Amino acid sequence: KLYNIVQDLKGNIRVYCRVRPFLPGQANGFSTVDHIEDGNITLMNPAKHNKEGKKSFTFNKVFGPVASQAEVYADMQPLVRSCLDGYNVCIFAYGQTGSGKTFTMTGPNNLTEETYGVNYRALNDLFCLTEERKATFSYEVSVQMMEIYNEQVRDLLATDGSNKRLEIRNSSQSGINVPDATLMAVSTTADVISLMNLGHKNRAVSSTAMNDRSSRSHSCMTVHVQGKDLTSGAALRGSMHLVDLAGSERVDKSEVTGDRLKEAQHINKSLAALGDVIASLATKNAHVPYRNSKLTQLLQDSLGGQAKTLMFVHISPEADAISETISTLKFAERVS
Ligand code: ADP
Ligand code: MG
Repeated sequence: KLYNIVQDLKGNIRVYCRVRPFLPGQANGFSTVDHIEDGNITLMNPAKHNKEGKKSFTFNKVFGPVASQAEVYADMQPLVRSCLDGYNVCIFAYGQTGSGKTFTMTGPNNLTEETYGVNYRALNDLFCLTEERKATFSYEVSVQMMEIYNEQVRDLLATDGSNKRLEIRNSSQSGINVPDATLMAVSTTADVISLMNLGHKNRAVSSTAMNDRSSRSHSCMTVHVQGKDLTSGAALRGSMHLVDLAGSERVDKSEVTGDRLKEAQHINKSLAALGDVIASLATKNAHVPYRNSKLTQLLQDSLGGQAKTLMFVHISPEADAISETISTLKFAERVS
């Protein structure tokens, strides 16, 4: 009950945090995460190993390093399912490169049923629910996958390899949309897997010039739902954006130049714009600065109003990540 009231005050914004485990081969490292209890996480700064070195943050939920993909999804399920009731939902993964954003949203490279990320689980769950409701509702579910790189939106589902630049439009009938991005109807797990594979292949193709572009672009899987109440004939529309953001680490300006510096500036600008939008929604500011980046323009319909937003921040446990870890948690704390 109380939780719901708090959610209402926050305009349906919730914040989760996940701590990545140490990776194989670094098992004995010192963890900067001192302890986790419900929504609280306490860090220990390795440079000040005493009481002053401790810092606590509070979120709606904190997942420790042993949380499974299924446990994480279980806490997001009601949010995901609400898009079948006509809500706009936005879930985004924030954190420095290597903190586990892609693991949460998609899963590791060697995917198994156990390690499926939110993208697969969410779509499969929607299929289950549409099946359960089929006597009273008919639904169509379709998906787009896009990438935002250097403030340009590109189609990750183009089958002709065109990789063309796309425009974000705002129409009175369908709201914010990207009409030229490939839209694929999906109704089975197999559909989802083949579409994710295509998206990953397209992302890999565009990354040959620069290594690991995936950590320097935002990728967004957008799920569109069209529903019809079979008794009354009433139609409803819902949507869900599942976003794997570019790495939030600050780049040392003295060390990068040219294209790399331009990339870093675009990333900083768009993540700052996202933070500003969420913070002004959380404090009920009259003016919400959606227009400051392509990312916030694309997500506009799913941030604020009746939309439901989950900011999912990720942190690495290593001592040398402490300053990025603190800045990630401060970013999240602005809205919680
Ligand atoms: P990011 O997308 O934030 O750059 P990744 O998701 O690629 O980070 O994670 C970095 C590495 O850590 C990958 O090898 C990934 O499989 C692993 N990893 C991340 N989170 C977890 C987790 N919760 N459990 C096990 N391995 C993880
Ligand atoms: Mg990643």
